[in-house]
Amino acid sequence: MGRGAVTVSWEVAGASDVGRVRKGNEDSFFVDEGRGVFLVADGMGGHAAGEIASALAAEVVGGALVRGVDDELEPELLAESLRRSLHAAHEAIIAHTQQDPSTDGMGTTLTAVVVLGDGTYRMGHVGDSRMYLMRNGELRQVSHDHTWVQREVDEGRLTEQGARRHRLSHILTRALGADAADKPDIGAGRFVPGDLVLLCSDGLTGMITDKVIASILKEDAPLPDLVARLIAEANARGGRDNITAVLVKIS
Ligand code: CA
Repeated sequence: MGRGAVTVSWEVAGASDVGRVRKGNEDSFFVDEGRGVFLVADGMGGHAAGEIASALAAEVVGGALVRGVDDELEPELLAESLRRSLHAAHEAIIAHTQQDPSTDGMGTTLTAVVVLGDGTYRMGHVGDSRMYLMRNGELRQVSHDHTWVQREVDEGRLTEQGARRHRLSHILTRALGADAADKPDIGAGRFVPGDLVLLCSDGLTGMITDKVIASILKEDAPLPDLVARLIAEANARGGRDNITAVLVKIS
């Protein structure tokens, strides 16, 4: 990894599935295992525009993070690069809609993590795709949803369970490219050996609860099998949306 003592390594598996109802897949994900760059994006917009938005954002942000790692940017500069790349993706989507008005209104969520050899990570997040961390058998949601229902929960007007069932549960308060402000959350932390990191789209979390996710992640199976199990479970419970999961195991 080029910088400081290398104390952790990682392996990754990721997959995306169209689900059982939708015709196209508007999710995108990007994985560069060698450089420790991982992200999930969930696009929106008619006429396949959601697919364009999420792919464009994944390319812009993934590319910037890969270059940041190659340039051996210090963690704080990497965080700034993450922030800038999310904004660049926002602008790229808007520029695209100006060239091709049929894609007007498209946007995307994006949740990205870059992990360094010493185990520290930086994450950037906009929308309702999620980052989870499974540590010592406990699953914790690291990212905070930018949704209307989450805001209602935060302000005490709605319960978590009510939010899951709410007819407006898909309304985002922030997204890249859309009218909603793109302002990303930038986070930081340190992974330790044994950690499992999950990045996923709402096609997973809308179909299965955190409890089900945790029980699958506790199964003793290779990473690609765990990813397949998550997707299969979301499909078994309806598969109403595209399902994407990227799983990183720290050792
Ligand atoms: Ca979705």
